Amino acid sequence: MRKRLIAGNWKMHGSVSQVKSLITGIQQGAQSYSTIDILVLPTFVHLSLVHDLLQSTAIKLGAQDLYPGAQGAFTGAVSGPMLIDIGCQYVLIGHSERRTIFHENLDLVAAKFKAAISAQLFPILCVGETNDERKQGETEAIIEEQLESVIRLVGIHAFQHAIIAYEPVWAIGTGLTATPEQAQAVHAFIRKLIANNQVDIAKTIRILYGGSVKADNARALFAMPDIDGGLIGGASLDANQFLNICEASCTK
Ligand code: PEP
Repeated sequence: MRKRLIAGNWKMHGSVSQVKSLITGIQQGAQSYSTIDILVLPTFVHLSLVHDLLQSTAIKLGAQDLYPGAQGAFTGAVSGPMLIDIGCQYVLIGHSERRTIFHENLDLVAAKFKAAISAQLFPILCVGETNDERKQGETEAIIEEQLESVIRLVGIHAFQHAIIAYEPVWAIGTGLTATPEQAQAVHAFIRKLIANNQVDIAKTIRILYGGSVKADNARALFAMPDIDGGLIGGASLDANQFLNICEASCTK
């Protein structure tokens, strides 16, 4: 049985006071959801603060990105060992906003995944197609390319320590959500791709859905057999909404 994971991607949001009140709100309700993993992904500048606020809670901490390499002349960048040092356990890799706005290509995403594994962080590899790609019937080819480019570099066994997030680009921050059936079809395809490489990893790897998940659509999405939780953007900035999504993930 795969443990559900609900991850809140705060993106570039939050002040010190907002972060404090968001964490207070989440942690007050989170104790009721001990059967799932709850993860927050603040900005780099808030990681240390959130780490301190999360002491003596079960809520996990992750970063939204890293740069390959441990240290060096990479102005503005943050490495995997630095994230471990500050208390992170997880890191997002290849979020569609990184792939599009920051022009991260397949090779860079794969190198970042490798750096996360080397630093002993759990990478959450984000994959997903654009609206045009879906309309052209290219969804599976795009997902396969995004996954295979990482598998080629790191090998399938690295996925024992990884999570995959299926995030259709057309659903991120748009209010459009994949139907549970559309999402399930892609999740099943991803699991099959992993199974083609290694059956046991396919059975245990958690595959999250992301893309305008809200309290009112979460239950139906999480009822799908291959959806193991959610990567939540907008709705993770409101403690009540985020907790309602956690609640929805506690029941099949
Ligand atoms: C995301 O940024 O990963 C995301 C899924 O955002 P939203 O929930 O706002 O669509």
